[in-house]
Parts: sequence; structure tokens; C-alpha cells
Amino acid sequence: MATRTDVAVIGAGIVGLATAYSLQRAGVSVTVYEAGEPGGGQSAGDSRIFRHAHADPRLARFAVRSRGLWREWGDDLGAELVSLDGAVALGPGVDEKIDALAEVDGVDARRIDAAELAERLPILASHDGPAMLDAGGGSIHASIVVERLVSRLGDALVRDHVLTVRPTGAGTVEIRTGTRRAEHAYAVVCAGRGTASLAHGLGLSLPIRNAAHVRVSFDVAGAAPSSLATLQDSSGAFGEAAVYAAASVDRTRYGVGIAEEVPVNDDGRSVDPDALQGLAERTVAYVRRALPGLDPAPVGHVHCWVTTLPWGDDGVAVWEHENVALVAGHNLFKQAPALGGVLAELAAGGALPDELRPSARLGHA
Ligand SMILES: Cc1cc2nc3c(=O)[nH]c(=O)nc-3n(C[C@H](O)[C@H](O)[C@H](O)COP(=O)(O)OP(=O)(O)OC[C@H]3O[C@@H](n4cnc5c(N)ncnc54)[C@H](O)[C@@H]3O)c2cc1C
Repeated sequence: MATRTDVAVIGAGIVGLATAYSLQRAGVSVTVYEAGEPGGGQSAGDSRIFRHAHADPRLARFAVRSRGLWREWGDDLGAELVSLDGAVALGPGVDEKIDALAEVDGVDARRIDAAELAERLPILASHDGPAMLDAGGGSIHASIVVERLVSRLGDALVRDHVLTVRPTGAGTVEIRTGTRRAEHAYAVVCAGRGTASLAHGLGLSLPIRNAAHVRVSFDVAGAAPSSLATLQDSSGAFGEAAVYAAASVDRTRYGVGIAEEVPVNDDGRSVDPDALQGLAERTVAYVRRALPGLDPAPVGHVHCWVTTLPWGDDGVAVWEHENVALVAGHNLFKQAPALGGVLAELAAGGALPDELRPSARLGHA
């Protein structure tokens, strides 16, 4: 890494935490500003899916880098951060995904039959349609990751809301928060839903679309199984065309979502609770049909804002403005180690890889 020594990171979601941890590991001093609870925004909840399959092969390769770093980080942080249970996908597109992943070094993805599917995902109803296993995928233990990274940050985490980010013209960036004014050599804005407004203050208009989403958690009925792969179901066999699910660390709980967003009202700040309720009810109905190994009574909800870029649900990009970088995208949890590494390099004086420039449309659908 190069020589800048004092970096501000705005937002302690997974992207900001990953950036700060990468900076710390490189010996760069960092201050993370967080308005709310670290990991309380789009990074909330106990699990996420790690999968390699992406429509854009560049992003699949980026995911391979992240998978390696998740292992390395797990060793350093003293916890398994991604389960070894694999990621299962159902639906007519699996052969295409397997073919695409065959071109990506470091991925073990293959078709599985109904018997192996039942072994990998014993809570699923009997299913003999096309199924794929990504053996290096699995459930990211999201809340453990956040807790370990926050603990590493220690006093470097400042609980305050950032109002403005402004390059001073003298090689520093001024940060104004609720109760302080500080200058840093560089700033990385990883503020999720707050990124667009901080960008606006810099004269930048980022093409971020806001929506809302709900994911519902269910208890596993009976004893925890010895394997509980993640699920992406686009088979339609159980009445929904796009469902995803991931397991808690002890495999006693499964978080299930229908991959649909709830539009934001015209005021840009509120959503219709009935729409969220409707999506949650469809999720319960899906669980009754597809996942008989779960108790269908919901035991938890994650309600979240979702920020997406125009070129796809997995789209991600970094904007640079003088000595400020701003990151935006969706489905970033799995990518956080590699993305945080890139942002840390940039903040420390390195260059932004071309593939992360907005014009490269990384993660296009
Ligand atoms: C239900 C759900 C399921 C998902 N499933 C997956 C999945 O399976 N796999 C996957 O890879 N991804 C998944 N995602 C997406 C992934 O979780 C997000 O892309 C990722 O968590 C975004 O992290 P972030 O750090 O960019 O944003 P956030 O987690 O939103 O963090 C931004 C932080 O910035 C803070 N902030 C905002 N404005 C300011 C300000 N002005 N001053 C100070 N702090 C500020 C906020 O309080 C927040 O804590 C899912 C998302 C949801 C909601």
C-alpha cells in the first residue's frame, strides 16, 4: 500500500467495516463515522448468501477473490465467517450458470440430483428439477462478521452523523458531523442509503435507486441438520419465481426472502407497510409449500432499504472526486472483502481498478 496515513470512512455497514479493517491491516490509521448502529442498515440480520454465480463473469472472478479473503479474515478474526454447506440454485438456468462458472478459476459448481439436493438441503420439499451446487458458496455469518470487525475497530469508530464531506483544496477532506469538524487525508463514503445525499453535497449525482425489502426468518423444525446450504430458487415449482435463503450459524434458523423490492413512496423517504406485509405473507406461503422442514411461524424480520444501480441487481461502482471515493451497489455483502481491499488501496494512495469505474458497469445483468 502507498503512503496516505489518515483516512475517514463514512458508514459502518459491511463495506465501510471491510474498508476500515483492510486499512488497519495495512497499518493505515482510520476513523469510521457511523450515524446509527454498526451493521444496522442494509447489512442487518444474521446471515447472507455467498455465491460465485453472477451474470457478469468479472464479478464472478471478484467473488473468487472475496471467498479467499473470507477464509483469511476468518483465521485472523477467530471465527468461521462463511459456512462450508454450499450454495444451491434451482431452476432452468442452472446449466447456463454451471457453464459460465466453468470459465472462472477457483469455482467448484456442478449439477446435483434429487438425492444430493435432499442431503444438502434437508428442509426442502422433494424436488427433481434442475439443481446446482456451488461447493464454495454458503451462508455468511453476517452478524458475527460485523461484531468481530467492530471489535477490531475499537476507538476508531465514532458514533456520529456526517452532514458534509468536502475536499479542502489543501490535500485534506473536511468532515462535519453533529458534534465535530475534522480533516483527513482521504475519505471513503460507504453510507448505503446515505451515499447519494453526501455525493450531492459534492456536486455529484449518483444513479442510485432506493427501494425497500423484507426478509423473514423461520426456525428449523426439530433438530438442526448437519448441512444447510443456501437456496436460490428460480424454478417456479413452489409458486414463486425468485426466492433466496441463508442459514444461521448453528443451522437452527433460515432467513428467506422473495427477491422483489417494494417501491419507495413519492416523498422518497417512506414505504407502504401493506406492501411490506404482502411480501412477508408471500414468503410465509412459499415456506409452507417449499420448505416443510421449517416451522412456518415467522420468528424475525429484516426490513431494509435497498440501493441499486441501473445496470443490474448485482451492479457496483466507485466514484472518485478529488480525495473522496464513494461506493454504491447492491448484493455487496459477499463482495465486501475484495471491495474493502480495493477501497483501502485507493484511500492509501493507489489507483482505482478500471472495472470498478461506473463506466465499466461491473455486475451488469
Ligand atoms: C434482506 C437483505 C438480504 C440481502 N441478501 C444478500 C445476500 O444474500 N448476499 C449479499 O451479498 N448481499 C445481500 N444483500 C445486500 C447486502 O446486505 C448489502 O449490499 C450490504 O449490506 C450493503 O452494505 P453497505 O455497507 O454498503 O451499506 P449499509 O449496511 O447500509 O451501511 C451504511 C451505513 O452508513 C451509515 N450512514 C448513512 N449515512 C450516514 C451519515 N451521513 N453519517 C454517518 N453514517 C451514515 C448507516 O447508518 C449504515 O450503517 C441483502 C440485503 C438485504 C437488505
